[in-house]
Amino acid sequence: MANADFNKKNVRIIGSGHSWTGLIVTNDILVSLDNWQGILQVDPHGKWVEVKSGTKLLKLGNDLWNLGYSMENLGDIDVQSIAGALNTGTHGTGRNFGTLATQIHSLTIALPTGGLVECSETENRDLFKAAQISLGSLGIITRYKLKVVKAFYLEYTSKLGKVQDAVDNFDKYNHEYRNYEFYWFPYTRHVQLKLVSETNKPIQDGGIMRDFNDVVIENLGYYVLSEWSRTHKKFYKPFSRFSARGVPKGTWRNHSNKIFATKRWVRFKEMEYNVPKEKFHECMNEIMDTIHKRDFRVHMPLEVRYVKADDIMISPANGRDAVYIAVHQYNGMDYLEYFKTIEEIFWKYDGRPHYGKINTMKKEQFANTYANWGKFCEIRNQCDPKGIMLNEYLRSIFA
Ligand SMILES: Cc1cc2nc3c(=O)[nH]c(=O)nc-3n(C[C@H](O)[C@H](O)[C@H](O)COP(=O)(O)OP(=O)(O)OC[C@H]3O[C@@H](n4cnc5c(N)ncnc54)[C@H](O)[C@@H]3O)c2cc1C
Repeated sequence: MANADFNKKNVRIIGSGHSWTGLIVTNDILVSLDNWQGILQVDPHGKWVEVKSGTKLLKLGNDLWNLGYSMENLGDIDVQSIAGALNTGTHGTGRNFGTLATQIHSLTIALPTGGLVECSETENRDLFKAAQISLGSLGIITRYKLKVVKAFYLEYTSKLGKVQDAVDNFDKYNHEYRNYEFYWFPYTRHVQLKLVSETNKPIQDGGIMRDFNDVVIENLGYYVLSEWSRTHKKFYKPFSRFSARGVPKGTWRNHSNKIFATKRWVRFKEMEYNVPKEKFHECMNEIMDTIHKRDFRVHMPLEVRYVKADDIMISPANGRDAVYIAVHQYNGMDYLEYFKTIEEIFWKYDGRPHYGKINTMKKEQFANTYANWGKFCEIRNQCDPKGIMLNEYLRSIFA
């Protein structure tokens, strides 16, 4: 970073490059920590595990399991680096679980002003609350101590449900299941319900048939039909209905990290906002009505998840239990008008975007939405007074 300063270059850090926003775009210096992976040490009391910040979630999950630990919650895929996932506020679902960044016990950061600083709830607290979700804008995070729990197994049931039931009984399902989410298929009354609970029953992973279903039906088959939908203008509604009927039906049990992760090989664009849980029903109903009224050409489902409130400075779930609603569009199909329309609905309901996913918010709007945006920007300026960590996109939201 000293060289970058000397040469008037900016520095960005890449995890796995799975964010849609311009977080890592640079013509200057792009740092990858792909060669910095693995577990460094385990707390003798079993409360935390220190990991190298470039560790990919797949490796982390398996390494933790071999030591007898799990992360309490995870998102949908496991190809991200731990630092990349934490920095954008990546989340899973479940009323008892915050964003993954709530699982940070402490972290070590290399600041552009020089030196490594360790911070936690009790040491350099302001820096810690800022760095937990900081879009790689404060410096390079080199290590995390992550809170872990004893390794556990999960049972996952996928089935077809009715959208009105999934929305109306959102709270009930969130109390009944450890991790509840649903996918709504536009132009249908149907959802895929994903119901997950802890279990002590023996592993049932579906063996070769599950792999066949994941690879051939959910990915290859979905890709072929999506291409058909992209090239045939009138196909989106029948395809959405067809997809709803084809949702996987069954129950599987496995290591927690294996149940959380799914294979996502079909390329798409995504925008995801959360709204306060009290506003979810109204917001979701308006989104569904709008898609139908505007007749957007979309066959990919909307995903709905629950995240518990936290106190991380610029976390989208700061100060409120939140329901995340994600809209998807298949790559190559027009998404601008669709996303813009839905984004305006999110704004009406006090929505806050996922930092890794498409959105058009700028500094002023963020500052109006987050009580601590100004404080975060101050801390950012102290850590990086010359703006070395800022590219054009980050300047548009922080500078
Ligand atoms: C198919 C797919 C599925 C997804 N599923 C989910 C999901 O279930 N839940 C969810 O919430 N999100 C999900 N996402 C979004 C994804 O988790 C985030 O965009 C995440 O940030 C990507 O991680 P990454 O390792 O690719 O990070 P990148 O996109 O490479 O980087 C993200 C940010 O982290 C910063 N960063 C990386 N390493 C460091 C470091 N060492 N120090 C400081 N900053 C660093 C980068 O500079 C950047 O600002 C999904 C994305 C895709 C493509």
